[in-house]
Amino acid sequence: MLINLSHHTFVRHFGNMSEVVNQRNDAKFFLQDAEPFLRFITCEPQREEAIVAKIAKLYGCSPEEIAPDFAEFVQSLQGAVLTGSTQEELTVQEPEFRYYTKAEAEGKTAQSASVKTEKQEEDNFGIIINDFLIAHKQICSLHIDLTDACTERCLHCYVPEYGTKTLSFEAVCKVFDEYRVIGGLEVELSGGEPMCHPQFCEILRYARKCDLMITVLSNLTLLNEETVKTLADVRIKYLQTSVYSMVPEIHDAITRRPGSFKETMRGIELMRKYNVPMKINTPVLKENFDSWRTVEEFCADQNYKFSSNATLLAKVNHDCGNLDHGLNSGQMRTYLSDCQHSNPWVAGKFEKQLDDPMCEVCTIKLRLDAAGNYYPCVAGRELVLGNCYNDTMQQAWNSELAEKLRALKQRDFPECFKCKSRCFCMACPAANFNETGDLYKHRPEYCMEPKIKYQLYKEQSC
Ligand code: SF4
Ligand code: SF4
Repeated sequence: MLINLSHHTFVRHFGNMSEVVNQRNDAKFFLQDAEPFLRFITCEPQREEAIVAKIAKLYGCSPEEIAPDFAEFVQSLQGAVLTGSTQEELTVQEPEFRYYTKAEAEGKTAQSASVKTEKQEEDNFGIIINDFLIAHKQICSLHIDLTDACTERCLHCYVPEYGTKTLSFEAVCKVFDEYRVIGGLEVELSGGEPMCHPQFCEILRYARKCDLMITVLSNLTLLNEETVKTLADVRIKYLQTSVYSMVPEIHDAITRRPGSFKETMRGIELMRKYNVPMKINTPVLKENFDSWRTVEEFCADQNYKFSSNATLLAKVNHDCGNLDHGLNSGQMRTYLSDCQHSNPWVAGKFEKQLDDPMCEVCTIKLRLDAAGNYYPCVAGRELVLGNCYNDTMQQAWNSELAEKLRALKQRDFPECFKCKSRCFCMACPAANFNETGDLYKHRPEYCMEPKIKYQLYKEQSC
């Protein structure tokens, strides 16, 4: 029998624990003492006997002793590890993505309803892995603004000024190398517009060489055949793009780039042509409040994944002017009542104690901006943990400021701790800092969305 790791599977080891995750079919495993078995399973197909012989040599025992355990092990990793008698049998099992017509997709949905229980088990695995990573302060998610140049000037954008900085290719490679060595997994390439970076395709290829799980945030206005082929070749997890309205004038008025609707739609068609996974997101603002649903209808018709959101982030220089484009309270109430299928919101759990950490800040996520500065989240400019041109990622992660942020406790935010709407609110220190310049102080307007969610929840529960 031939065995190989799916090209969409990623393996990471943390002490005696191993994480195995497939980005296409969501197969997830969290295993103890499995590294010696996983070590010899590669993306290149090998005969089972050859792998067993290597493991037996490692343990200093006979292949016959290892073979039954290894066969059981491989069987348990279905979806992440592929088996077959021929190369062709392995290839057809690769969970490659392709766009389906609406009719095909409806057939698939009916089939997948029967595997709901398995899916729930997978989700539980995700929670277990996440809790482990948080407890061990293991960076596993890296957001990089490759450049602050952008082709658009969106009304609500949090970037304060455009086109002054771009990360060098060498700096990005150094960051990927460091990230990979410490077991990093996900990298989100953003900007500005990441395709404005002159070496965007080389960066994608280097990320793949480092075995990173890649997502891209792009407006698609610069997408061309070369770039879309590279996105397909490096097997990105997905690309997320924003469409504000199917009324071109409304979309263009928000991006402040005439013709951008047409350019983004052309990009979406190219993504479809090359079967590169994509999600379409619609930020809901005052300007597209009457037409955002047209995007949802378009996505349903074309079978694109769709989400919407109405939460805006203040500019990272504490200028809240962009928040004026956010929904007023009446609109927010209407949006939250209407959006359950595209942006489901449910009551979160809030069972924290006063001495529990305030949030996950500096436990699993890190952000790098176009100037090379590391930040804990998409936070204000003064919260710099280090700079990739001068510091290693680990130095930034272990900096005094990172320790201070990790030490934030629920008791430091007494108003939020006793707030009834807390189970609908991130109560985010980084958002506080963006909006007020003070980690501990939120703007009263920040409470509007969670409070409306709480009211709606109470009304629906009566
Ligand atoms: S709640 Fe805010 S500060 Fe905390 S981890 Fe999330 S984004 Fe960062
Ligand atoms: S709604 Fe306001 S007071 Fe309540 S938890 Fe959120 S930020 Fe804190």
